[in-house]
Amino acid sequence: MSQPSLASTANRTRRDNPAPVVCLDADNTLWDTDGVFAAAQLRLLANVIGAIGVDTAEEDRLAYVREIDQELASRHHLGLRYPARLLIAALCHRLLGDDPSLAARKTWNDPSAVPLAKEVIEGIEKQYLADLRETPALLSGVHTGLERLHHADATLVLVTEGGRDRVENLLLANKIDKYIDRVIDAPKRKELFLRLRRLFGANVLVYMIGDQVTRDIQPAAEAGLRTIHIQGKFRPIWEVGAAALTAREAKTFEDAANAILAGD
Ligand SMILES: [Mg+2]
Repeated sequence: MSQPSLASTANRTRRDNPAPVVCLDADNTLWDTDGVFAAAQLRLLANVIGAIGVDTAEEDRLAYVREIDQELASRHHLGLRYPARLLIAALCHRLLGDDPSLAARKTWNDPSAVPLAKEVIEGIEKQYLADLRETPALLSGVHTGLERLHHADATLVLVTEGGRDRVENLLLANKIDKYIDRVIDAPKRKELFLRLRRLFGANVLVYMIGDQVTRDIQPAAEAGLRTIHIQGKFRPIWEVGAAALTAREAKTFEDAANAILAGD
């Protein structure tokens, strides 16, 4: 995937056609990052249960892990990127009878106070990190939607906070790199979207498609972009209760693409 300068991408758009610019979120909008996390979290839970020999986990095992996961993420400065050994430790406390909040607090106070050997924790952590490197599958309608937008000469700009190299590798692995004109790795703030609008010019419609209201939709809408929200399966704690009042709702990426091509 070539990376022309943002200005040259903008000039090409203005000169050749009035087709829209479509900014895209990547994780849980184009591909099922949530599914990769779910599989990794379920295996991590199974490995912790196997290691401590106690299985008190509730029937919905994914919800059981995620309750702890959200407790930790909401307390850690790295959010959902907190170290996996904290999740292992907190699950030990939880399986041994503590409620999610106490399990997270105990972990926070002393991450090493768990009845597992250091090597066992490292082994479970290593497996978890390997599982997270699996390539997430494309979500429903993404390939068709991208193809349609591309053939309608829309300029497709992927906006991510998930690291350029990782995202470019996933575009290649899912064979959709040919549709993406640019990848921008930057915090999704209003200023970024204002800059994009200025670059592409006032006569070009700029859209943003994403799954998170607070990260994808609100800052883009504040900058004057047209926004399309696709609700993902995973709602992080900061998204609960957030409503995309400014956004059109689409069920799938294909629906979102069709709405753009219809000029909505
Ligand atoms: Mg996302």
